[in-house]
Formats: sequence, C-alpha cells, structure tokens
Amino acid sequence: MPFIITDPCIETKDTACVDVCPVDCIHPRKDEPEFAQATMLYIHPEECIDCGACVPACPVAAIYESIDATPSNQKDLIDANAVYRNGDADAMARAEEIVKAHVAAQPALMAIPAAERQAAHASH
Ligand code: SF4
Ligand code: SF4
Repeated sequence: MPFIITDPCIETKDTACVDVCPVDCIHPRKDEPEFAQATMLYIHPEECIDCGACVPACPVAAIYESIDATPSNQKDLIDANAVYRNGDADAMARAEEIVKAHVAAQPALMAIPAAERQAAHASH
C-alpha cells in the first residue's frame, strides 16, 4: 500500500522527502524540468516500498502512510499521486487537474498556512 502526499505539500514543495527516499519514487525532483510547473510532489504507488523514511522528513506532515490513513478530505489526492508520471504530459495534466479541483473544493483548508494545514485535516 503506497504512501500518499497531500495538500500541505502545496506551497511547501521543498523536496525534503525526495532526499531521503531510497527508491527515487517521489517526483518531480528539483533537478527535473517538470518541477517548476508541478503544484505539489507525487509518490509513484507501484515504486514506493513503504519504508516510511519520507514521513518524518516532511516539515509539514503532508505524507500519510496508506490510502486508509489518508483523511477523507484528502482522498481525492490519492488519485493525483497514482496518475502522475514524470515526463508524461497527459498524466501530469490529469494529476494537476485533480490538485486544482482539490484546492477549489477546499477553500477553508487551503486558507490555513501549509505548516498548520495537516493539523486541520481531521476537522475540515
Ligand atoms: S515510503 Fe519510502 S519508498 Fe515510499 S515514498 Fe516514502 S521514502 Fe519513498
Ligand atoms: S517533504 Fe513534504 S512538503 Fe516537502 S516536497 Fe515532500 S511531501 Fe512536499
């Protein structure tokens, strides 16, 4: 069961998770051309080995350990993680559409600073 990146990554996107992932399954990396246009980062669900190293590395607690652990108001982003593929323009566009729809659907949550957003996941 893959780990999932959620909305505190939006506006943070510092790639601390990328630096600790042993299998390079989090994209886009800073040195990839897709980085500038990506609203957040995504974990490839089939490449993730569930090691958990990325969770404590994330300064805004954006990463959940499983689909089941992902809060209900973040479940739409499970698909964004699943469909994103670096270098595949269609897949990248589909992931970004999901993220944009998430932002539009969650105005109260997105108004909270990224560093405090995860704490509000349960109550929004
Ligand atoms: S759980 Fe491990 S393998 Fe999966 S994204 Fe995090 S660091 Fe990478
Ligand atoms: S460490 Fe957290 S905020 Fe930073 S890029 Fe990874 S998921 Fe996003």
